[in-house]
Amino acid sequence: MNLLIMGPPGSGKGTQSKLVVEKYGLVHISTGDIFRKAIKEKSELGHLAKSYIEKGEYVPDDIVCEVIEDRLAEDDCKNGFLLDGFPRTIYQAVKLEQMLEKLNKKIDHVLKIDVDPYVLVKRRAGRRVCSNCGSSYHLEFKPPVTKGACDKCGHAIVQRADDTEETAFKRLDIYLKSTYPLVEYYDAKELLRNIHGFGTIERVFFRINRELEKYDNH
Ligand code: ADP
Ligand code: ADP
Ligand code: ZN
Repeated sequence: MNLLIMGPPGSGKGTQSKLVVEKYGLVHISTGDIFRKAIKEKSELGHLAKSYIEKGEYVPDDIVCEVIEDRLAEDDCKNGFLLDGFPRTIYQAVKLEQMLEKLNKKIDHVLKIDVDPYVLVKRRAGRRVCSNCGSSYHLEFKPPVTKGACDKCGHAIVQRADDTEETAFKRLDIYLKSTYPLVEYYDAKELLRNIHGFGTIERVFFRINRELEKYDNH
């Protein structure tokens, strides 16, 4: 099964992705995680991506598509993958289709997480990530066991550089303009699965499972 998860910044894509890949044995491909790792490693890709991400803008399509094309060609993707944060533009979606065609693969379901703006702001404001391994937390809704430290590796948890108030509105605006059109694109292909994103992490995960169980082709 190959999945795609989409939703506004802070809706819970990364959080749900972790649970879904574990349950269904898929590879998690998050463009946001790939870029953050590249920035931390100070690679050429990281250098390119950094300026865009910190301003709250999208990384140019061609750069993102190249990253994904290389990743999808890797051997571990053959048993199924979950794309988190890609595609984010119609251009990327069309490119993805061409890449998958070459690899003789297809997307089975597009999970779209719907969250009210108020909830979105609260989720994003309290989001903290591990400065070392990237694990994600929330001050109120998913605090680490020891205050300020990652459960997995013990390093400090910090706010993401792009989770500032200035970029928050801009990112949502870009999402609505550039990414939201994908809803119609995937609906036309009968791939769209709407998931209510309110409630606890477990509750949202329950809804995702219930939705996937409706289809036998996984
Ligand atoms: P969020 O969790 O807030 O939705 P991500 O962690 O997925 O954000 O991505 C962080 C940033 O990386 C985005 O705001 C954007 O600048 C960049 N990015 C990630 N994926 C893409 C993409 N498919 N196209 C363009 N930019 C991307
Ligand atoms: P995205 O990848 O869509 O930007 P994240 O998965 O990073 O979103 O979630 C944003 C923040 O909200 C994180 O701090 C996460 O721990 C928290 N969060 C995610 N899902 C829920 C939920 N259902 N209820 C409360 N907090 C949540
Ligand atoms: Zn960690």
